[in-house]
Amino acid sequence: MMGPSHALSGAAAWLAGSWALHQFANVAQSPLEVAVGTAICAGGALLPDLDMSGKVTRNQGGATVARTFGVASLFVAEVVEKFSLGVYTATKLSRDPRRDNGHRTFTHTLPFCGLIGWGTTALCAGYGYWAVIGIVFFMSGLALRGLFDKWAERAGWVIVTLASAVIAWFTAANLPTDRGYPLLGVAVGVGCFVHILGDMITKNGVPILWPIPLNRRMWRMVGIPNSMAVKVGGKVEVVVLRTAFTVISLLSIAGLFVPGVLERFNLDVWASK
Ligand SMILES: [Zn+2]
Repeated sequence: MMGPSHALSGAAAWLAGSWALHQFANVAQSPLEVAVGTAICAGGALLPDLDMSGKVTRNQGGATVARTFGVASLFVAEVVEKFSLGVYTATKLSRDPRRDNGHRTFTHTLPFCGLIGWGTTALCAGYGYWAVIGIVFFMSGLALRGLFDKWAERAGWVIVTLASAVIAWFTAANLPTDRGYPLLGVAVGVGCFVHILGDMITKNGVPILWPIPLNRRMWRMVGIPNSMAVKVGGKVEVVVLRTAFTVISLLSIAGLFVPGVLERFNLDVWASK
């Protein structure tokens, strides 16, 4: 899938999950907490494609994420791609093909989702509030780039970076400082996982079984059959899937916040009687 679809799927997953937690486990979040979690999960849903360096320089394909912060993120993408290729080459078995590009390898595995979620949690636990602000800055940049791709394309990376800074500043000014932030790591990890699921329904699949060796292959690409696969950037993705993700997001927002609004309204009615 392309960047915007990935970002939308991440946002939809987080909003639906927040609604379910609220509904069935009585976990209440403030609107700001839900917004921050959603932005981070949408950004996280773009993170695995930070392994697309080669295509970025030729300005092709789903390079959304690597252009977020201009040259800086292009450089990060280059490092991530080479590192992923290194992991691939170091762990490949005799029947895994030789590769010269790391796209859809290490960053598209379950251990990566876990590692990045754990790393985020560790950063927040170690450095607290300011780590949270840094993570919000970085991830909301990715989310903006993904969710508002046309705008981001026109505005360019300087504006996107400035907009992320404003979001981080607003969050810094309003997020409570007196508590941990256990959901941030979860949001990043869930975002990555949703990305992998999204790539599984497109051609070629993802190495979701890594590092389980099967039949002298460690990097078996798993996905639905190519004949049924969703065409990247095709009608099913752009119209059907994106509409579905948007509807899920809106319904979840309504489910999360409309009852509260109604309740307050009722109380006001009561009070005035
Ligand atoms: Zn991907």
